[in-house]
Amino acid sequence: MDTNPAHKTCSFCGVQGTADTTFAGGLGAMMCADCVDFFHDKLSSEEGLRSISLRSRSQMPWDEMSDTEVLAKLPMIAATSAQVSAFLVDWVQIARGRGLSWTEIGHALGVSRQAAWERFSRSKPPNAGASA
Ligand SMILES: [Zn+2]
Repeated sequence: MDTNPAHKTCSFCGVQGTADTTFAGGLGAMMCADCVDFFHDKLSSEEGLRSISLRSRSQMPWDEMSDTEVLAKLPMIAATSAQVSAFLVDWVQIARGRGLSWTEIGHALGVSRQAAWERFSRSKPPNAGASA
């Protein structure tokens, strides 16, 4: 599993990590310290909650963006998707390292043993390619 923050992207703002970046992470999503502070402030009050709730908005954030801003979001979303996919590969490898079968892994993912094997069997093991 690659734990180098320089290889991580904040799943909330898209900032690329550096060797000194601290991320909070979970299930492949990563949150930089600035986003932790921002969302802590927003989630700590009713007014803050309303300001970030999509349900209370008459317009979505992307409604106010230029085409250039929308296009700039696409690679950030793709990077986040790739990060989550790599995290899934890592966890499948952890499961395999524990001796869990492709049948068990497939069942957990809602796919067949064959589909799980085809998707993950050629994945590199945890720590392969990771740098300190
Ligand atoms: Zn962030």
